[in-house]
Amino acid sequence: MFGRRPFLGFMSSLPFAPGLRAATKKRDVIAELGVRTFINAAGTYTALTASLMPPEVMDAMRTASRQYVNLIDLQDAVGKRIATLLECESAMVTSGAACALTIGTAACLTGKDRARIQRLPDVTGMPGEVLVQKSHRYGYDHAVRACGVKLVEIETAEELEKAAGPQSAMMLFFNDAEPRGRINADEWARLGKKLNIPTFNDASADVPPVSNLKKYTKLGFDLVTFSGGKGICGPQSAGLLLGRKDLIEAARMNTSPNSDTISRGMKVNKEEMVGMLVALEAFMQRDHEAEGREWDKRVATIQKAAEKYKTVSCSVEVPPIANHTPHLKIKWDQGAIRIAPPDVLKALREGSPSIEACPMTNKEMLVFTVWMMQPGDAEVVARRVAEILKQASA
Ligand SMILES: *Cc1c(COP(=O)(O)O)cnc(C)c1O
Repeated sequence: MFGRRPFLGFMSSLPFAPGLRAATKKRDVIAELGVRTFINAAGTYTALTASLMPPEVMDAMRTASRQYVNLIDLQDAVGKRIATLLECESAMVTSGAACALTIGTAACLTGKDRARIQRLPDVTGMPGEVLVQKSHRYGYDHAVRACGVKLVEIETAEELEKAAGPQSAMMLFFNDAEPRGRINADEWARLGKKLNIPTFNDASADVPPVSNLKKYTKLGFDLVTFSGGKGICGPQSAGLLLGRKDLIEAARMNTSPNSDTISRGMKVNKEEMVGMLVALEAFMQRDHEAEGREWDKRVATIQKAAEKYKTVSCSVEVPPIANHTPHLKIKWDQGAIRIAPPDVLKALREGSPSIEACPMTNKEMLVFTVWMMQPGDAEVVARRVAEILKQASA
């Protein structure tokens, strides 16, 4: 019988060992399946697979995939590294930011009490309420409600203080909703300290700017989450939970690999942990100013092509908090250019190469973002937009 090494050595000495040749030829399963790929001029939408991981992230994940490791040891080490990088007390890799919302809430409910951990989503015997500003209610608070808590809506600081009590487990803040609420992030964190209730800021879609990664824990939030697969360009199924050491420890007790927990289904394996760390490092080392200039250039390329057509007007808007990146909005007189923006979106999707415009596109305007494009994509989008507008011009 061959030992492993001699056998492999023998195989690789054959010039045309068939198995090895097949292994070096890369399969493209998406192409084999005939599933459409496209230029992403939309943004970090989960349903559109959001972002692309840099090669160094995939390399790190591939290397990790060839080794066994104790998962708890790896989460310890990765968490420590991330906490050092982001200058916060503690950190962990979660199964997306939505998972972070669930296990962060669970941590506030259970602490390190095993009986409580097993009882969730039954909150009997625990503080079962989460305080939130009315204007901060959103779809993702389902991930908080999954823990069995009741969301108690308030609007002013006075109402908050009145509603707070021993039944209050947590104070949830939706970072993007800050301008719509009466209590800002800074005050929310301070009120949490004053009332001795843990505060959680969902800043999932809020990089860039890179400085936000450190901002909210420093502001005093006990927990903060960011998506791994949005602006950071890490694994799509990963996220970051940052904050107080005791709460991160309790959050870890509420999830995989622990079986009898609310979040056992939100598993994170070694590849995502390592990939998330490397993606974060790569993101922090990027030249963000140069990247911003590249985005402006891409926007200008598309804008210039569209503005050649009569009645077309463009504006560039950067949302203040979430998805803080240029959005190119294109409008025209639909009497002169006889096509509606949703039909342009459809034509772009059905063209070759296929292009996805921003789902914010409506009857009035066509919307693009450029931050998830690859080099050369902006020129292709510009050409296709010009072709479609030209064809529809009277
Ligand atoms: C995207 C998003 C989430 C969910 O993030 P995942 O990493 O996809 O789980 C949660 N909250 C907000 C505000 C988001 O934008």
